[in-house]
Amino acid sequence: MDFTFLGGAREVGKSSVLMQSDGLNLVFDSGIKLTEPPTYPMPTDHVDAVFLSHAHLDHCGNMPALHSRHKMPVYSTAVSFELSHMLQHDSIKINKLKGYPPTYAEKDISRMTAGEIHVQHGREYIFHGKAKFTFYDAGHIPGSSGILVESAGKSVFYTGDTHSSDTRLLNKAVYPDHADVVISESTYGDRLHPRRMDVERQFLDEVEETLERGGVALIPVFAIGRTQEVLLLLESPDWTVYLDGMARKASQTILRFPDMLKNHYKLQEAVDNTVWIKNRRDRKKICKEPCIIVTTAGMLEGGPVLDYLSHLHKDANSNIMLTGYQVEDTNGRLLVEKGYVVDEESGQRFNVDMNISQYDFSAHSDKEELAKTVKSMDPEEVFLIHGDEDSVEALKGEFGERNVHTPGIGDKVRIN
Ligand SMILES: [Zn+2]
Ligand SMILES: [Zn+2]
Repeated sequence: MDFTFLGGAREVGKSSVLMQSDGLNLVFDSGIKLTEPPTYPMPTDHVDAVFLSHAHLDHCGNMPALHSRHKMPVYSTAVSFELSHMLQHDSIKINKLKGYPPTYAEKDISRMTAGEIHVQHGREYIFHGKAKFTFYDAGHIPGSSGILVESAGKSVFYTGDTHSSDTRLLNKAVYPDHADVVISESTYGDRLHPRRMDVERQFLDEVEETLERGGVALIPVFAIGRTQEVLLLLESPDWTVYLDGMARKASQTILRFPDMLKNHYKLQEAVDNTVWIKNRRDRKKICKEPCIIVTTAGMLEGGPVLDYLSHLHKDANSNIMLTGYQVEDTNGRLLVEKGYVVDEESGQRFNVDMNISQYDFSAHSDKEELAKTVKSMDPEEVFLIHGDEDSVEALKGEFGERNVHTPGIGDKVRIN
């Protein structure tokens, strides 16, 4: 059995792993890395099937390009497919806007849809009479999955992005009892998260203080998962919450898949209580009064959040509340480190005088949780991927004598 790491190894971005077993070429994920310009996983000669773990661009962003080349079936949950199409369409627009060459077109997304096979968590499927596979709830975003493949007498578990504790939105991840080989993410392989309860309390206090001093609480969010969790948190009869951008569309889509949520009634209620903002005129208007605005993009790379910043950046009473990790070379990171952002579309630079606060609402397990999860499956071999150099090495240190690999991009490892 061979594993080749096509991307997402010793880095976060463009996740893709090729597993060759019993004459089959199976691929876990095919994402992109949102560098400028974007980068892609290494190509491979032949693909029999792809398993998609979840609808984040670092896992699904290259899928239409891979499908147009190999025409293989793609397996995932129904909601992951819908959400990934939304991101893929948006990605075409962004590439066009930034002048980067397209790697697929709208028609490739439609063609891929015909080859998409919807799976359910916890059910066993058989591929070509040779491989068995089961998707497990990964607790990371709605529809996210870890994937167990059994082939040639061995079991392999690919965690995808995983979160082994409950949030307001999702139940914690479920794992198989055992796997011979575990391929684990390592995003927070070198860090521990603060207690969720403490982060939530601090976040809500800060919203309240901002409103009391007459400011706007501007909350940039990732459309999928973070938006819905923040809305559940902000659910209060005294507060008006405005919802804008792809955050709106993603919430509508997710609500159509109630089985993927911890409590879909609560989310429905929270979304129903928001006021939807659809145009620039309304954006300008709501910025004049104290209010709460939840909008994309989470790392300030485009989307309505930049429009809001154009109105609010000089207002010291207002607060921009970042709800996730800000990747290097993004506007979000620029804001945290240098105090300004650049709207690429207009070329305008905004020096931000607002309060800037940041919260660790992570949707990933931390170092301790990852180590515990992997050990619970008692694997013979472990591969640590989806983490920067420091993270994979720090996590490796948790396993002592066990056979742990920290492959780089292009590495091929044989397991006997
Ligand atoms: Zn993810
Ligand atoms: Zn990821």
